[in-house]
Amino acid sequence: MMMSSLRILCRSGLRQSHAAMTQRGVDKTLYTDSTRMNKFSLADKYHGLEKNVWVEFIQLALEYKPLNLGQGFPDDLVPYNVLDSLSEVAKESVFLNQYTRGFGHPRLVTALAELYTKLLNRPQDLDPMKEVLVTDGAYEALFTAILGHINPGDEVIIIEPYFDCYEPMVRLAGGTPVFISLKPTKTDGVISSADWKLDMTELQSKISPKTKAIIYNNPNNPLGKVFTRDEITSICNLVIDNDILMISDEVYEHMVFDDSKMIRMAEMPGMWDRTITIGSAGKTFSVTGWKLGWAVGPANLISNCGVVHQNCVYTCPTPIQEAVARGFEKEMTRMGSEECYFRSISVDLQKKRDYLAKVLTDVGMRPVIPEGGYFMMADWSELAGKIDLSTETDTARDYRFTKWLSKNKKLQGIPPSAFFCQEHKSIGEDYIRFCFIKHDDSLKKAEEILQGWRKELN
Ligand code: PMP
Ligand code: GLN
Repeated sequence: MMMSSLRILCRSGLRQSHAAMTQRGVDKTLYTDSTRMNKFSLADKYHGLEKNVWVEFIQLALEYKPLNLGQGFPDDLVPYNVLDSLSEVAKESVFLNQYTRGFGHPRLVTALAELYTKLLNRPQDLDPMKEVLVTDGAYEALFTAILGHINPGDEVIIIEPYFDCYEPMVRLAGGTPVFISLKPTKTDGVISSADWKLDMTELQSKISPKTKAIIYNNPNNPLGKVFTRDEITSICNLVIDNDILMISDEVYEHMVFDDSKMIRMAEMPGMWDRTITIGSAGKTFSVTGWKLGWAVGPANLISNCGVVHQNCVYTCPTPIQEAVARGFEKEMTRMGSEECYFRSISVDLQKKRDYLAKVLTDVGMRPVIPEGGYFMMADWSELAGKIDLSTETDTARDYRFTKWLSKNKKLQGIPPSAFFCQEHKSIGEDYIRFCFIKHDDSLKKAEEILQGWRKELN
């Protein structure tokens, strides 16, 4: 109510000064403060979206210089052949440094089409020109999928914890996010991300005639859950029965541990036609600064995404696309073998996961052992009584704890409540998220910090 009366006031102010301008010519003094405010202020559609966990915590890391296990960027396991490709490409040809095809560099879309034909078990080869769109990171792929399909009034179900940008993107499109959270079902013993479950009856109850799409992330960031075939089948049944679009963020698709298996939404019966699969070269090849992603799906859906893309960034950097294409070509020749990066990364990450889990347990936190991805949530609530967080002013407990840890112990994580909607933030508040795609020396340093802290606590 207050916002809309403010807008009416500002608009009427604008009309009055316009009238005055036409009567007496332009008089600068007639630009009232409210007119100025209206002209130079943030566009209405972005109001409420000003706070961003990455902006806040990257700034915190710059200021306090902690050991950074917060934002998910690797400092280890980077495939050097992919880095070498980029330096070769830059020097190889002038043309590889110029604009390329807007919807994706031909060599890259060809490689992606070949790869996903296999990964998604398609009966026919994917059409690289129509069924693949290359984007500026998975962020832009999500943006094109959401903005390209959601109309004002549409409802979009978001499965929590969710990668934080889903919610603002749905709101920007004029859609209404409808949230449902995975919930912890176990309190004793070793807890795994598999113990966080989705209540399918609750999911069914969230579907309405206005439901346009479901967005989900598998393997999940921040939890590390890898959805089982049974869970995915139940989601698919609801999606198909209610004619819903599926936006499936699978950026951690190659990082899966133990006996967990990556089941891709679009490989399930009846799902190809209604699924947009989102991937990221930054995640796939551990080069997050390359900011290259893609959307894969049926031609009609990818064409809609393309309309958003062509009116937004239009095309992505050519040398990066060429280098990623070469990376894929190489990995495709050794798919299934031990040396294939898509396999070796999981083997290497699993060791790092186990190490960090032990370190966190030793200090009195309770890690949720992830089945995939490279993040781990750890419950710190048993330590809450031993620390004084009164210096921190945030409303959410996990924000207070994460900032306190960064400033006082020089170890940075990310507060998981950022991955829940306003009403469900309490589900994440007992946890902190750590990234474990880090060099063994970095993880050792984390251990030293936490052991030092444990001595103080006892
Ligand atoms: N989805 C998820 C689940 C993520 O964790 C991230 C962060 N990398 C993205 C999308 C965005 O990926 P990109 O860096 O390729 O834009
Ligand atoms: N996806 C990464 C994470 O979850 C980084 C996100 C970002 O920097 N916006 O940490």
